[in-house]
Amino acid sequence: MVLRGKPEEVIGKLLKTGKPLLSAKPTLILWEKDTEPYALKRDAAIIKLAKQNHVEVRTFSGHTLWDVEQALAKNKGKAPTTNNAMQTLAKALGEPAKPLAIPSKLPPLPPGAKAYDVPTLKQMGYAGSVQGYLSGGETAGAARMATMLKKTSFIRTFKKPQTRSTAYDPPDTTMLSPYFKFGCVSIREFYWGLKKVCSGASHSKPPESLLGQIYFREMAYLMGASIPNFDQQAGNPSCKQIPWAKNPKMLAAWEHGRTGFPYIDAAMRQLNRVGWMHHLARHAVACFLTRGDLWLSWEQGRDVFDKLLLDADWALNNMNWLALAGVAPWSPPFFRVYHPVPKMDSALNVKDPEAARERKRQYIYAPWTAPMEVQKTAGCIIGKDYPKPMVDHDEVCKANLLRFKRALSKAPSTGADCDTHGKALRS
Ligand code: FAD
Repeated sequence: MVLRGKPEEVIGKLLKTGKPLLSAKPTLILWEKDTEPYALKRDAAIIKLAKQNHVEVRTFSGHTLWDVEQALAKNKGKAPTTNNAMQTLAKALGEPAKPLAIPSKLPPLPPGAKAYDVPTLKQMGYAGSVQGYLSGGETAGAARMATMLKKTSFIRTFKKPQTRSTAYDPPDTTMLSPYFKFGCVSIREFYWGLKKVCSGASHSKPPESLLGQIYFREMAYLMGASIPNFDQQAGNPSCKQIPWAKNPKMLAAWEHGRTGFPYIDAAMRQLNRVGWMHHLARHAVACFLTRGDLWLSWEQGRDVFDKLLLDADWALNNMNWLALAGVAPWSPPFFRVYHPVPKMDSALNVKDPEAARERKRQYIYAPWTAPMEVQKTAGCIIGKDYPKPMVDHDEVCKANLLRFKRALSKAPSTGADCDTHGKALRS
């Protein structure tokens, strides 16, 4: 049953009178804990209201492998910042709880429950259904997880860096992230499923394995719950202070896939269209927006991801943007930049056997280098049918790395930086 309105108002009324769901005031309220700042504030308000109305509160941890507070306490209040440290903490914490069995029966819904049914997309203000290849909900999520857990060789040999960022239908990874994000499926069920498949067989190991991936997820929640101002540069002890530029035009070109770099644009168009992209493609576009090319703040990129990703998750999104902008202790070295024209089999794992075979697709990632004849034959004139690259990568990247270095040494930034940036902006 879905109540709509401000939590404090609708739940406040429920706690006081039982209305509109119950015939009497409740005695007990239970919910699943959440560690995001918004949820903490909301839950504190509900706890206060419950106390005022003499209603008992019980909360449970279910969205992570371990209870976030207990895991942090075990680690002296600090979140691990490497997968290795997470593995050590996991050992110290012991196996996470097994998921409970599905209840065989549920109490009947109160009369009038129909009025509180799950609202339609239209009722929630969306024009229609989102274009995508994922169906929402527990049934679809559970089916996807069950299918993945049946792929024993896929699980046992899974090494994240070897999965292809160009594979999309089907993708090379599980694409379970939206279901984890919304709690449609249980992370603990996935954990125990992975354990079962790997037990007694040789298998890949964290950080590259699927277990390693869900350790990254766990780390993100621990970081989000313990690092002050985790979602911003200001006041965040885990974020280097970088004087990022502001440029709404450049931001819009990036968001809508009009940078003139097909690898970046394809990834951003996929994000706009279906709400998901491969992890290494996320690396490439995040690096391009920040230290690599456009010198725009990771906070702006994070907001676009938050708006467009089906799996948009406060903790995971912030941890990864901080990493890719090169500003966090868990970032790769800031000077290791992804080239927006990836080579086949590059660090971004752009394996595309078809493109490699067909000579006519040799310009696929740098179409502006194609002779005019080739552009005409392809029906794609650069600057007319598809934008010219918006920056000269080599030029801006060099300038950006200098600026980054200067910011780290806290030397005052000079206006010359901006000139270099401006000149390099071609369209
Ligand atoms: P798989 O490779 O199959 O991994 C299984 C699960 O492990 C994922 O569903 C996810 O829950 C978890 N996981 C995998 N990689 C990571 C990671 N790097 N960090 C934390 N957890 C991970 N993931 C989100 O779920 N929500 C986000 O908002 C999000 N924002 C990101 C922003 C940037 C800039 C980057 C670089 C990565 C981001 N990720 C985010 C992490 C990662 O890209 C996605 O979790 C992954 O691509 C989802 O696809 P999958 O389910 O097939 O992953």
